Amino acid sequence: MVLDPHNSFLAPILFSKNGSLAQQKERTFPKRKSLLLQQANSMEKSLFDFPIRKIIHLDMDAFYASVEQLDHPEWRGKPLVVGGNESRGVVAAASYEARKFGIHSAMSSALAAKKCANLIFAKPRFERYKEISSQIQEIFFEYTDLVEPLSLDEAFLDVSENKFDLDSAVLIATEIREKIKAKTGLNASAGISYNKFLAKIASDLNKPNGQAVILPEEAEAFLEKLPIGKFFGIGKVTAEKMRQVGIHCGKDLKEYSQQYLVKKFGKSGEQYFHIVRGIHLSPVQAHRERKSLSAENTFEKDLFLSHELEQQLELIYQELIRRLKKTGIQGRTLTLKIKYNDFSLQTRSKTLERFPDEVQIWQTAIELLHQDSLPKPVRLLGLGVSNFFEGEDSGGIAEQLPIPF
Ligand SMILES: [Mg+2]
Repeated sequence: MVLDPHNSFLAPILFSKNGSLAQQKERTFPKRKSLLLQQANSMEKSLFDFPIRKIIHLDMDAFYASVEQLDHPEWRGKPLVVGGNESRGVVAAASYEARKFGIHSAMSSALAAKKCANLIFAKPRFERYKEISSQIQEIFFEYTDLVEPLSLDEAFLDVSENKFDLDSAVLIATEIREKIKAKTGLNASAGISYNKFLAKIASDLNKPNGQAVILPEEAEAFLEKLPIGKFFGIGKVTAEKMRQVGIHCGKDLKEYSQQYLVKKFGKSGEQYFHIVRGIHLSPVQAHRERKSLSAENTFEKDLFLSHELEQQLELIYQELIRRLKKTGIQGRTLTLKIKYNDFSLQTRSKTLERFPDEVQIWQTAIELLHQDSLPKPVRLLGLGVSNFFEGEDSGGIAEQLPIPF
């Protein structure tokens, strides 16, 4: 990109951590019109060839763990993880005190216990996390309807136009974080930028309880210095592959042509070429409604024996539970889908009075499997939940939760 000597591209990157409002005011976005500049002497697609949006990524700090510490004052300031402590358990979230011991989410509970002798294991309480999640969402919707939740504790907000006609996305983020603290007692961090990719990266910069802004004219310089592993959308495997060809930070990535990146990394190569230049056009997508959530599997050979079917159903059930937890979705209706070896399809459903827990989901799945005898060998089993909204405590959030990336 060719530099425009009149813009502040070379301004130092200053991130304010809990900065005063006066300090933050200086960091507000310039007026939208002035950003619709064309880089006339550049043949490349540049940053300013499209309208600049104001995007906030809000992310609760160590969410599940913080909720547990909030509700159990005796656990505050102590190393704690949310997750099972049995031999097969996995850490779902770790408090900042636990992270000092090198404990992080997705680590096995056994290893976590080894790293810290006094580690507190809290059982997950998804009902409670969902309750707080809806409170947070209500705050988001005070400002904009363009809210895209990524999970129970993270969301993108497009505040380019907002209900208070506020010019500064930085001030909106500050206000939202203050309101979250006042309403729930929990800390949130925020990233502010002109697209989702940069906002997501920015929210991590001053965690916990901080926020950061990446201005349009700072983006490319910032990304050049960013280690490749910190790029949102570049996973661990790809990052390793990039390091092998000498790509360690954004600057290295920029050296490669779009053609080369596509050849090396497939279709995503195109995306990598653009994001390192600060270009990411995916809009904030509100209200992606889900009607059901399910998991299914086609077997290598058709099955008929009930213990074999139960075994397979258990694997499908586990996948469904994983997806339900990931999305925070709950549904009262369980449906078992059975496809026979002649491709005929049968579904068996049961609607429960309340949202079932994991044990009830399993019991109902087994009940549906054995409800009638099976006339033919089975080619596929599927298990799904639906009926998200009629529960007394759906809190209006389920319908907005997409499957995370
Ligand atoms: Mg979080």
